[in-house]
Amino acid sequence: MKAYGGWANNPKFRHDGASGGAWSALAEAFLKQHKDGVVIGARLENNKVYHYAINKVEDIPLLANSKYIQSNTDGIYKTVKAFLKEGRWVFFSGCPCQIAALYAYLGNMRTHERLLTAGLICHGIPGEEALELHLKYYNSPRLFSFRNKENGQFYTESQCTTIDIDGRPVTIKRKDDVFYKIFSTWLLDRKSCSNCRYSSIERIEDITLGDFWGGADEKEFKEGVSAIVVNNQKGYDFLSKADTIHIYETSVLKVAVTNPHLYMGFKFIQYHPIALWPDFFRRLLPESIRLAILTRKMPWLLLWAPYKIMQKIYISWQFGQLRRKYEELWTNKK
Ligand SMILES: Cc1cc2nc3c(=O)[nH]c(=O)nc-3n(C[C@H](O)[C@H](O)[C@H](O)COP(=O)(O)OP(=O)(O)OC[C@H]3O[C@@H](n4cnc5c(N)ncnc54)[C@H](O)[C@@H]3O)c2cc1C
Repeated sequence: MKAYGGWANNPKFRHDGASGGAWSALAEAFLKQHKDGVVIGARLENNKVYHYAINKVEDIPLLANSKYIQSNTDGIYKTVKAFLKEGRWVFFSGCPCQIAALYAYLGNMRTHERLLTAGLICHGIPGEEALELHLKYYNSPRLFSFRNKENGQFYTESQCTTIDIDGRPVTIKRKDDVFYKIFSTWLLDRKSCSNCRYSSIERIEDITLGDFWGGADEKEFKEGVSAIVVNNQKGYDFLSKADTIHIYETSVLKVAVTNPHLYMGFKFIQYHPIALWPDFFRRLLPESIRLAILTRKMPWLLLWAPYKIMQKIYISWQFGQLRRKYEELWTNKK
């Protein structure tokens, strides 16, 4: 594994990406290297997110930026197989569990030399209910985007939705944003996200992308810096040839220290009564109570906080384990 900080050379890609636009830069490099290449990622359209294939650099903005609800992958694994059989090059991106699903579907073809995968450092993903409640709360018909870096990249600045209010795009402040209140409680995450096997330091994808919260100078950080981890030779060879991205080497630990989902996928929140209940029962609650619980209004905050505290302790213990493992590796190498 090798870790880098980096950003897209194209300022528009950097500006429009969730962090440094590294994904768009890699997609651009892939399409430049392979004339018949295909890039697959998540697209947001009419409040729905689904996986979609493009083959032109001009279409990269259709897939750029993070969408924090589950992307529908219906039919896409079949499409990847068909492209590979036609002899085309495929760059597939998504959450690590989606990369695992693709590999499972492809069977022996998973190691195909024409397939490159990029997976995200993934915090867990809520279902569509989170967005439905959000839009209903603001009486908005449409979401334009989940992230906006106008005020900086740190999550308290950039995690804010832009929605249609009375026909105009309005960006909600993070502290008031109902979607992010729900997102950050993890209460509506898919049940599998609390025991994610793929949020592990043994990464499944060729290249991992995330936010690089630390280790960049302030000006660069304001414009956006992605964390890029290459997990195998294929990822390394591709990144070394990509001339559309600026990178600088850092350490896996520097990325991990602010990104627990690079190395662990266990969450105590799965034992919260609301997370334990089947969705059907939760939806029977009056909407005002449901929203109050999901957005941690008092007194519901008191019920949620112990899970958060246990999680923090668990993360620091897990990080200690990771650090020891890397220090040993480093010492042996010396
Ligand atoms: C649900 C989710 C949770 C995340 N949690 C973290 C986290 O905890 N820590 C962290 O460092 N980074 C997290 N990320 C990644 C982060 O938001 C950025 O995607 C990453 O920093 C790369 O940014 P970028 O500017 O290079 O690329 P971006 O322009 O953000 O593009 C990334 C690519 O990711 C794919 N993508 C976007 N949304 C989805 C989706 N819903 N499902 C599948 N694929 C998608 C698309 O192919 C998109 O083109 C998360 C992303 C998602 C989607």
